[in-house]
Amino acid sequence: MEAYEKIHQLHHLIETGTAADLPGPYKVGVDLGTADVVLVVTDSQGNPVAGSLRWASVVKDGLVVDFRGATTIVEELKAEVEKIMGITLDKGATAIPPGTVGRNAQACGHVIAGAGIEPICQVDEPVAAAKALNIGHGIVVDIGGGTTGIAVLKNGDLVFTADEATGGTHISLVLSGAYKITYEEAEVLKKDVSQHRRIMPVVLPVIEKMATIVKNMLAEYDEYQDYPVYVVGGTAYLTGFGEEFSKAFGRKVHVPPHPLLVTPLGIAMFG
Ligand code: ATP
Repeated sequence: MEAYEKIHQLHHLIETGTAADLPGPYKVGVDLGTADVVLVVTDSQGNPVAGSLRWASVVKDGLVVDFRGATTIVEELKAEVEKIMGITLDKGATAIPPGTVGRNAQACGHVIAGAGIEPICQVDEPVAAAKALNIGHGIVVDIGGGTTGIAVLKNGDLVFTADEATGGTHISLVLSGAYKITYEEAEVLKKDVSQHRRIMPVVLPVIEKMATIVKNMLAEYDEYQDYPVYVVGGTAYLTGFGEEFSKAFGRKVHVPPHPLLVTPLGIAMFG
């Protein structure tokens, strides 16, 4: 299966709450994000078998801020997927944003261990995204809830990373201010695809800021000029995001299907 086909398939499995009829052994990945928690199971070839997603604010910029809440959600996702697949999930991989160190770096492993999944591997989130996209050479821009992060991969190795605090949360804050609605209402508005054309002029300055952040991060690195650029993370769901980001960035970027699911799929591939 091609990379984009795998992402489409994972989305379908999550949406329908079903499992693909593929033989084990299986790999498990858990992505603890600022805005959501995603558990994914793949077969040994990295083909999606099942998955589950829960919107939740248990992590902030890679730091687990609600340990019990995070553990409970992972327990619930694990139970859901086990029920769909009819098996027990006992071990799996997690990921952290690059630059997360010390106890913070260990927290994700503790969360999944607390939920009954033995942590066998912890990868950098952009490395996981690159694995799901099947790229060895390239720039992964990850725009999640809290941050805009970039990772440059050369021959499959992470050679440069940077992270700055502007993400989907900021888009929702701007919408909340502009339309005089609560943050929660702004989140709903932002995810309503029928409203994307209307809200684009309001959120465009934030997208341009994200592109400028990435441009500045790469300013000193001429050698990465011809690397393909992929934008992943939930914020890239906004209709027209890729075009507007490319314009402000000055380079064409690729937005994979279901950009929110790219990193979770890649994490499972390490499981
Ligand atoms: P981080 O990487 O910062 O830890 P995360 O892993 O939770 O956060 P993602 O799951 O990649 O980040 O993306 C979450 C963000 O994507 C949230 O701000 C959410 O509001 C936004 N988002 C999710 N779905 C959509 C959508 N359909 N349209 C626009 N934005 C969306």
